[in-house]
Amino acid sequence: MKFIREYEDKTTRLEDLKPYEETLLRRVIEICQEAKEKGNHPFGCLLADENGKILMEQGNEEVTGGGDCTAHAESLLMRRASQLYSKEEMKHLTMYNCGEPCAMCAGAIYWGNLGRIVMIARESKLKEYTGDDIRNPTLDLPAQVVFASGQKNIEVVGPILELEDDFLKLHENYWKPSNKN
Ligand SMILES: [Zn+2]
Repeated sequence: MKFIREYEDKTTRLEDLKPYEETLLRRVIEICQEAKEKGNHPFGCLLADENGKILMEQGNEEVTGGGDCTAHAESLLMRRASQLYSKEEMKHLTMYNCGEPCAMCAGAIYWGNLGRIVMIARESKLKEYTGDDIRNPTLDLPAQVVFASGQKNIEVVGPILELEDDFLKLHENYWKPSNKN
């Protein structure tokens, strides 16, 4: 059995997004900053409808959540959203995300039947900052590979190189890896 599946490793330019989507992604970076200021890890995401209306925002809560290892922003958001919206409704919504969802969060996105995600930076890029820091030893598995193992199409947009620096500067000197990748 072959487990590694093909995916298209492309980037997205801001000009290829709808005008309001840059505003949403910049808001996501603010959510990351807010999470960091609360003592959590600098990650965040938001959920929007097809017109760009923000339905829900979520920052990482692992630290203030008493060490809850599942309190990644995307998993928390999916838990909340799936209790509010039907699977049919979720299919038409988009998650705007700072980084690429890890395998756990990609799983939550899959089970929640979300239709589309837009991410600023790939896990492979984030890993350059986190290394193997025990708080966040980045699980570098492309979300598309997780989704490709499923039975439906989930659109993945990004990474968006023009916004990467604004997100990743929140991670500079934040992690303490023992290795250097
Ligand atoms: Zn995650």
